Amino acid sequence: MRILVTGGAGFIGSALVRRLVAGGVDVLTYDKLTYAGHTDNLAEVLDHPRHRFRQADICDSPALAGAFAEFRPDAVMHLAAETHVDRSIEAPAGFVETNVVGTAGLLDAALAYWRALDQQGRANFRILLVSTDEVFGALGPTGAFDESSPYRPNSPYAASKAAADHLARAYHRTYGLPVLITNSGNNYGPYQFPEKLVPLVILNALDGRPLPVYGAGANVRDWMHVNDHAAALELILTKGRVGETYLIGARAERTNLDLVRAICQILDRLVASSAHRPHESLLKFVADRPGHDARYALDPAKLEGELAWRAQYSLEIGLGDTVAWYMANRAWCRRANEAYDRRRLGLGSAVGMRR
Ligand code: NAD
Repeated sequence: MRILVTGGAGFIGSALVRRLVAGGVDVLTYDKLTYAGHTDNLAEVLDHPRHRFRQADICDSPALAGAFAEFRPDAVMHLAAETHVDRSIEAPAGFVETNVVGTAGLLDAALAYWRALDQQGRANFRILLVSTDEVFGALGPTGAFDESSPYRPNSPYAASKAAADHLARAYHRTYGLPVLITNSGNNYGPYQFPEKLVPLVILNALDGRPLPVYGAGANVRDWMHVNDHAAALELILTKGRVGETYLIGARAERTNLDLVRAICQILDRLVASSAHRPHESLLKFVADRPGHDARYALDPAKLEGELAWRAQYSLEIGLGDTVAWYMANRAWCRRANEAYDRRRLGLGSAVGMRR
């Protein structure tokens, strides 16, 4: 099988590419290498005979058409995106460009390629769009999103991902393109860029820097290990029903404050000699994110029932492994720190569609 993976040099994309290559799949990683993507994330597979890499933008139509023509994929897994909510609050335009216009361009390229395949090729082809639970907006204290939840995105990031989902659905309904859509909760694990909460807290705690918690830390997210997500994506691509949406979640809701405290306790155990113990003393409550969604939770019953998927990582085990990975990969962390100095973004003071 040959799979074109967009955004394969990012956090989730690289976990997926490592998994696919290890499982015998031929992969073309197609990635622009923004600040969030790096070939270091693919070090394990970069020179593997089953892996190819192309640095290009999904908004570059000729480059996309060339990738389809040369690689001749059996499937596409679309992960390329601008992904950080705080950055989308500061500068939404890049999110519209990559997540909306770029996805539209990818769907166009996939449609042209799919239409030119023979009957067997058309029947087997799949394109899977990787999306987020944030498209459904915020939940109250109870209940969970499912596949019939209405779209109510609240941040520019969520709105751009929602638009991409709608386009994908429309390409399926209008043109018959064999599309699948997945929406997952918050991921954590190795190779996550340190603008996101889990790596930010780990790296700041190791350096004795304040651990920023937005508002009162009461916002709830549904967490899953990136390897569980990658396994679910492969399963849905190969066994899921075309035209369907699948929610991916590991039933691990935590408030941000509880999550940060759990990381601190792991660090207290792993770095017993640290001058910063107890790491919880580094906690710092800071101004909340504008429009911060109170709670996300996903009901993965469809994925569990139809495709017998189960998360393999408990949050406690997964977080422990993740903290250990960041401690063991300080060179990777130094390189990521050069791309981003961990300063606060997205307070909404400099809003505008500028880049
Ligand atoms: P990431 O920011 O770590 O990686 C994104 C990758 O896309 C990077 O390698 C970047 O270089 C690439 N990219 C960005 N713009 C591009 C462009 N115009 N052309 C080509 N490549 C481009 O993101 P991630 O956390 O790995 O997320 C991957 C996907 O999963 C995204 O679509 C995201 O919306 C979705 N998602 C993420 C989470 C999460 O918790 N991280 C949860 C649900 C869904």
